Amino acid sequence: MEKSLKIFEIFGIKVRIHFTFLLLPAFVGFGVFFRQGGMNAVRSIVFVMFLFTCVIFHEISHSLVAQKFKIKVKHITLFPIGGIAFMERMPDKPKQEFLMSLAGPLFNIVLAVLLFYPLYLIMGRDIKALSMANISFNSWRSTILWMYWINPMLALFNLLPAFPMDGGRALRAFLAAHMPFIKATRIAVSIGHFFAIIFGLTAMIVQYPILMLIAFFIYIAASQEERQVKLKYALKEFKVKDVAAGEYHSIRPDTPLSGVLELSLKTTQQDFPVVEGDRVLGILTRYNLISALHEHKGENKAKEAMTKEVVRVSLGETLNSVYSKMAAANSKTALILQKGELKGIISVEDIARVYQLQSSR
Ligand SMILES: [Zn+2]
Repeated sequence: MEKSLKIFEIFGIKVRIHFTFLLLPAFVGFGVFFRQGGMNAVRSIVFVMFLFTCVIFHEISHSLVAQKFKIKVKHITLFPIGGIAFMERMPDKPKQEFLMSLAGPLFNIVLAVLLFYPLYLIMGRDIKALSMANISFNSWRSTILWMYWINPMLALFNLLPAFPMDGGRALRAFLAAHMPFIKATRIAVSIGHFFAIIFGLTAMIVQYPILMLIAFFIYIAASQEERQVKLKYALKEFKVKDVAAGEYHSIRPDTPLSGVLELSLKTTQQDFPVVEGDRVLGILTRYNLISALHEHKGENKAKEAMTKEVVRVSLGETLNSVYSKMAAANSKTALILQKGELKGIISVEDIARVYQLQSSR
C-alpha cells in the first residue's frame, strides 16, 4: 500500500493512485503517438483521465452508501485495471449490499442521462453515431463522443450479473433476501460461471483475446467468492476457546535469538509472544528470526527483532473475526488476551485445521 500516492480526499475518503496506474496513460499515449501522431496521443490521454475520473466517482458512490450503513471506507485506490474501494467490512444485510453495489453503476447512468441533452444540442444526431469498430481519437469531436459513451458502457459492464462485478453482488443480495446467504451465493456463482463460459466461447468465435481474459477472470473470481463465503460460515461456528491450544512458549525481551532458534527447532510453534512480567511487548515471528539470523545477528535480543504490532483477540471471539483481523494485519499468529493477560496464541494453521475438518464433514 505504500506504493500508492494520495491525490485528494472527499467526504472523508482518501483517493489514492497506485504507482502502476501512471503506466496506463503513458502506455496508451505512446501507443497512439507512434501509430497516429501527437495530437491523437494528447486526446487519448485526456480520454483515459476522464475515464478514470468517472471510475473514481463510481467508487465514491459505492463508498457513500457504505458510510451511510456505518461501514468505514479506508481509501479508494486506482489501479490500471480500475478502482477499488477498500472497506473495513462488507455489509451484513442483503438490502445494504444490494443498494451499495447498485450505487456505482447508478452514478454512471445518471451522468450519462444528465449529459445527453446538452451534448445533443452541440453535436446533433452525431451523438448516436458511434460504434465499437471505430474507436478513434482523430478529432476532438470523436473523442468527446467516446467520453460520453464510456459511462453507459461502464454501467453495463459493471451490471453483468457475475462476480466480482457489481451486478453479481446485487444479484446475490437480491437472492439472499429470499433464501440462506450460502445458497444465494451458490446460485450467483453458477450464473457467473455461465456468463464466463458464454464470454469464453464468444471470444473464441470472434477471436478476441481480451474477452477471453475477462471470461477467465470472471470464472476464477466467482469460484473464489464461493470459497470465501464457505470459509466465513464455517469459521463463524467456532470460537477461539474451542480451538486454541493451551500450551505455548513465550520468550523474554532479552532472550538471545540463538536461544529462540533452539526453542523453535524443538516445537512446531512459529511465532513467539515476547512477554515481560504480565506485559506483552510484541511477537517474534519466524520471519523476524530468519531475517535477523540471515544478517548474522544471532546474538541480538528478542526485543530488537520482534514485531511490535500484534493481533489481539479474546477467547469468546469467532474464528471468522480472528481470521479477518489476521488478514488485515498480514499476520500469521494472534495473541489471546483476557483483561490484558496473555492466555494463549492462535495461528493461521489452527484456523486452517478447523476449516478442513469442518468442510470434510
Ligand atoms: Zn462498482
